[in-house]
Amino acid sequence: MTVIDSATLNWEALAQEAKRHLQALLRCDTTTPPGNEELATAYLREQLVAEGIEPRLIEPAPGRVSVWARLQGSGIARPLLLVSHTDVVPVERDQWHADPFGGEEHDGFIYGRGAVDMKGMLAMELTLFLHFARQVQMSDQRLDRDLLLHSVADEEVGAKYGMSWIVENEPELVDAEYALNEGGGMGLDFGKQRVYLCEMAQKGSIHITLLAKGALTRITYAPLPMRIIPTSRRLIELLAATQTQPRRSLLLQVLNPLLSERVLSLLPDQDTANALRAMLHSTASPTLLKAGTALNVIPGEATAQLDCRIVPGETVETLTAALRKRIRDPKVVVKADSFSPGYEMQITPLFAAIQHAIAAQEPGALVAPYLFPAVSDSRFLAPRSVTAYGFVPHRPESGVPPVQSLAHGHDERVSVANLEFGLKVLHSVINEMSKTRSGQV
Ligand SMILES: [Zn+2]
Repeated sequence: MTVIDSATLNWEALAQEAKRHLQALLRCDTTTPPGNEELATAYLREQLVAEGIEPRLIEPAPGRVSVWARLQGSGIARPLLLVSHTDVVPVERDQWHADPFGGEEHDGFIYGRGAVDMKGMLAMELTLFLHFARQVQMSDQRLDRDLLLHSVADEEVGAKYGMSWIVENEPELVDAEYALNEGGGMGLDFGKQRVYLCEMAQKGSIHITLLAKGALTRITYAPLPMRIIPTSRRLIELLAATQTQPRRSLLLQVLNPLLSERVLSLLPDQDTANALRAMLHSTASPTLLKAGTALNVIPGEATAQLDCRIVPGETVETLTAALRKRIRDPKVVVKADSFSPGYEMQITPLFAAIQHAIAAQEPGALVAPYLFPAVSDSRFLAPRSVTAYGFVPHRPESGVPPVQSLAHGHDERVSVANLEFGLKVLHSVINEMSKTRSGQV
């Protein structure tokens, strides 16, 4: 495939195209429950068909439609999957200053539920998918791998009618070497250093029941033991390397179990400290407490259910052992009810492609690996040997809340400038990943 000179592309026109797609998608109310993803899917299908691409629609339950489209490559390398979801979480309308389903533009920002989670990414992926399809039609050459566009239903509430169903019933649709999905891509400023986080690991979960008999048990929830995975180590080493001494040496002590808490508490930015703490420890939050049946009877037993978010590598055995040690009461029964392991991806050429793309758009900015403390559909791709990274390019803007608080928050919005930035970064990544490895073009 001939390398398309990105300098000659009309980025403004592409950003306007992405904006048009985003506004149309935001006007589809795909709040889950109930979902109604077919509204968004109908739009996607129409756009693809208009360019001569017939997508595949997957509908495990009425209205819960996912869409999949393929731009066939030469087959030199295995496919690159562009993943997104079309469902969104509910809104509190009275907290918004714009119609959350109106696709309104104010001062260069497009407002609407899903603008950052994750219809904005979908709009960029669709724009680039169609762009590459046009390039291939015009040049009569192919990309070195299939480019797959896969926008699924039901991500926000369990994936039963979305990615979970698809990997079980139509696994060939996600047979890819690489995937780009949500979970990372946001830039943050660490001191004076701009860092873009590339999500390459996710926490898993364990649900635990504590059963305390015959005694009222005091339970404390101090941080669980540290568990350092390579992704976390790389991030902290990379952040430390941007600092001058003695801050550099001090920051490295975040990896020292004896000093970690002390150093984290000294960081000027406690949001960053909390994010680092979440990467280094599994957590156990008591979410359901049950004891007693009547006001005048002292209960014989009490149960506490713990929602545990575990660092990859943590098992039922290691976690329950840590909890028992913490509880220090052999009478308390600790029982795991469910277990979903986390995962960690390797550093691959996709990571290098993301680094090159960011370096071209923002010289001096770094890309760092990152453990996402929540989950996305990538957890269904990881067991299928797909290297899935979360990277929705998003440049921080002054006066705008960070993307992490806009997602699921009020006045969710994305600027047209950020759509253009994201298109440039993603175009560069797709282009690099679609070139013959030998360097021939
Ligand atoms: Zn999402």
